[in-house]
Amino acid sequence: MINIVLFGKPGAGKGTQADILKKHYELFHISTGDLFRYHIQGSTDLGILAKSYMDKGDLVPDKVTIDMLEETVTQNSNVKGFIFDGFPRTTGQAEALDAFLTNKSMSITATIALEANDKILTERLINRGKTSGRVDDQDENKIRNRFEEYNNKTAPLKSFYSTQGKFYSVNGIGSVEEITQRLTRLIDGFL
Ligand code: ADP
Repeated sequence: MINIVLFGKPGAGKGTQADILKKHYELFHISTGDLFRYHIQGSTDLGILAKSYMDKGDLVPDKVTIDMLEETVTQNSNVKGFIFDGFPRTTGQAEALDAFLTNKSMSITATIALEANDKILTERLINRGKTSGRVDDQDENKIRNRFEEYNNKTAPLKSFYSTQGKFYSVNGIGSVEEITQRLTRLIDGFL
């Protein structure tokens, strides 16, 4: 099994690359952002709760996010592997994921960060907001808050995974194809 965590700030291109990589390696793609948006569309209790955080650019509480993630993995256990996109985003989530996977005799193969600077990321998000309808992409203050959430809560995961020897960094600036090539060159080394 190969289990990849795609890591990076909002707008880094995790969703775009995960979509390509899942087909290339036949992996199951789990995007916590997409799962939340799915629940919001269906107006489930989980969706209503998540929306109150997401619209402000805040992270959804760990317990809610972890339960949803674990349920999705459990429901899809007969796959070649997973691409986790947007999870884990806090040390609590990373610890919960490790414990959960260990319990299932699984583990993270690698955590790969897509790196790009805030200026480029903000431009990408504002652009996406024009067509995605995502409230959190349409306002620079909300985008700034998401970067702050990332710096405060998610960035510490670099050392969490580095300590395990599982942290890799890839230049996230360039064409979609160029970035895919950088990623596949790296991931092919884990097969
Ligand atoms: P992006 O990475 O571009 O910010 P996502 O679709 O991954 O977009 O996430 C959108 C929002 O969903 C986040 O700002 C946050 O509110 C919520 N979210 C997604 N994943 C998590 C997570 N692992 N923990 C907490 N909140 C999350």
